[in-house]
Formats: sequence, structure tokens, C-alpha cells
Amino acid sequence: MKDFIRQWKEVDLKEIEQSLIVVGELQAECYSCHEIGIDKKAIQCPKCGAYFKYMGFRRKLQVSYLRQMVEAFPYLNLIDFDDFKKSIGKRDARKLLDF
Ligand SMILES: [Zn+2]
Repeated sequence: MKDFIRQWKEVDLKEIEQSLIVVGELQAECYSCHEIGIDKKAIQCPKCGAYFKYMGFRRKLQVSYLRQMVEAFPYLNLIDFDDFKKSIGKRDARKLLDF
């Protein structure tokens, strides 16, 4: 039986920020420029031109939905959006301390 588990991976936050599409219930958003109403099948942001390499989700994920996404977008890296936001928060807090 196959299932999905989250796997730890060291990533470049800046790279994800510049190439992330965030999928909600009805529409998707470019994380880089915050343009909303993007088709989740888009490979590039119509506003800022970012190429999407990562996909995150605002909705609660069911395994069946995740499987659909993996099959529909085999070229994307699917990330946990909450993990990503936590890392961004930590990085930005550190920046404030250094300031
Ligand atoms: Zn954009």
C-alpha cells in the first residue's frame, strides 16, 4: 500500500518564495507577487512572470486530493505551506534581531 509522508529536506527559502503557487479552495495565488485568481495549472505567473516549481496548499489536505495533485503536476515540488510559513517567520524574526 502506498501513502504520503512528509520528508525533511533542507531548502532555499528564497527560491521557494520566488516560485511558489499557493492553492486555496477555489483559486490559486502567486506567493511572489500575491496575484490571486491564477489557474492552478499555470506554469508561470501571468503578473510577475515567476515560473512555478513549488506548490503549497491553504486547504486541509486529503490523501486523495494530494494524489490527484501529484498526478496532475509531476513537475512540481509539493510542500507543506505551514512548514514554509513557519520557516519564513523564523527567518524574518532573525532579520529583525540582526537589524
Ligand atoms: Zn506573481
